[in-house]
Amino acid sequence: MKYISYNNHSFKKTKYYGRLSKAQQDDFDLLSNIFYFKTNNYVLDQLIDWDNLETDPLFRLNFLHKNVLSEADYQQLLSLYQAGASIEVLQPFIELIRKKTTPQIPYDEKCFPTAGGERIKGLYRSFNNVISLFPDPMLKTCHAYCSYCFRWIAFNNSEVQSYTSYKDPQTPVTYLKANPEINETLFTGADPLTLTAAKIKEYIDPLLTIDSVTTIRFNTKALTWWPFRFTTDKDAKNILELFKHIVASGRTLTFCAHLTHVKELQNDNVIEAVKNIQATGAKIICQGPVVEGINDTIEDWVNLWSQEVALGLQPYYMFVELNHNAEASFRIPLAKAVHIFQEAEKRVKGLQQPFNGPVFMNDVHCVSIDEVTDDNDAKQFALKCLASPYAESEGQVKHIPYDKDTRSAGNLVEMFMPEEHSKP
Ligand code: SF4
Repeated sequence: MKYISYNNHSFKKTKYYGRLSKAQQDDFDLLSNIFYFKTNNYVLDQLIDWDNLETDPLFRLNFLHKNVLSEADYQQLLSLYQAGASIEVLQPFIELIRKKTTPQIPYDEKCFPTAGGERIKGLYRSFNNVISLFPDPMLKTCHAYCSYCFRWIAFNNSEVQSYTSYKDPQTPVTYLKANPEINETLFTGADPLTLTAAKIKEYIDPLLTIDSVTTIRFNTKALTWWPFRFTTDKDAKNILELFKHIVASGRTLTFCAHLTHVKELQNDNVIEAVKNIQATGAKIICQGPVVEGINDTIEDWVNLWSQEVALGLQPYYMFVELNHNAEASFRIPLAKAVHIFQEAEKRVKGLQQPFNGPVFMNDVHCVSIDEVTDDNDAKQFALKCLASPYAESEGQVKHIPYDKDTRSAGNLVEMFMPEEHSKP
C-alpha cells in the first residue's frame, strides 16, 4: 500500500466524506478549521467502520469530536457557522478557542539541562535516569492525528519548534557523557518514526558512542497508524536494519507503541509489523490514554491488554488523558478510571511488571492513582509519585478527598514538590 495522507481539504474530495451524516459533515467542516486534521488511506480503507460511525472507536480516534470544545463554545460556533458565517469571520473566536485548548504544560527549570549557564535546546530531563530528546526533524508530524492530542498544534508552529528542538545530532553528547546516571534516551516526537531510517540514524549514532546510555526508546503510533512502515514501505527494510544496529550495539531498544483500542491490533498488517519488529530484538511495550467515548469501559481494556499479551507485547501504562481545557476534555472521572484499571487488570492473564495506571504524566511528574482508600468513613484517592526530577518525591503517597465525579486531582506539581523547592 502506498502512503497517501489527507488533510481537511483533500479528505473532502474522497468518497468517504459523503459517508458522513449532515451533522458529522458540519462538525468536520467546523472543527477541522480550528484544529489540524490528518488521516491516511490505510486508516480510511481498513481501520474505520464506515457503516457504524456513531459508535466506531477508530472514527472517534481520528476524526475531531465536539468534546474538544466546551458545550457553550461549540454551540455558539455551530450556530454562527450554520447561519452562514465564513471561517474568516469566525477567525477571532477560533483563535480564542485555540488558545484555551492549548495545554498549559507545567515545566520545571530543573528539567532543562544547561551548558555554560545556557539552556541546551531540545533536551528535557524530567526524571533522573531518562532524558527526552527532541531533534528538530522529529517534531514535524505523525502518520495520522489523534483527535484527543493537542501536541500537533505545536508541531505546526515553527517558532515553538525552533525553541524546543536541536538540529545538530551531536548536541546531547557532551551533556550525556557528563551525566552518566542517565541511561535512557527517549525520542517522542510528534512521531519520530515518520522520518527515514537514514535521518533517524544520524541522531542515534552519536548516542551509541556513550557507554552509559543503555536504552534507546521510541514513543510512536506508527505501528497502527501506518504498519507498512515495518513491512512493505521502501524504507521498511532500512528501519528494521536500524533497529538491529541499535540492538547489536548492546543497547536495549524499547519500541513504545501508543495503542488506544483493540481494533488497531486486529489486523494482519499490524501483526506482520509486530513480528518484524520483534525479530530485530526490540522490546515492544504499550501505552495509551483512557479516553471518553473511545475506550472507557472495562471490556475495552480487557480486550486491548489481552490482545497485546497474545502478540507478545507488554502493557506498560494506562494514562489519564491530559486536561487541555478546563471546560472540555476527553478525560473521564478519576473514580471511573481507577475502577476500569483495577477490574480489567484482574481479568487479564499474563500481565507483567512494571505495569501502571491510571497515571497522570505531565512534564514534571509521573503520578498514579493507586487506590481509593476508606479510612474512618472518609474516602480518599491515594496518589503515588512514580517518577520526578526530585528523587525525594519518588515513592511519596498523598491523599485527596474522593469525589466520584471529579476529573481533576488538583495541582500535582505543587503536591509533589519538595518543600524546600516550593514557592512561598
Ligand atoms: S500519534 Fe501521538 S503525537 Fe501524533 S497525534 Fe497521536 S497522540 Fe499526538
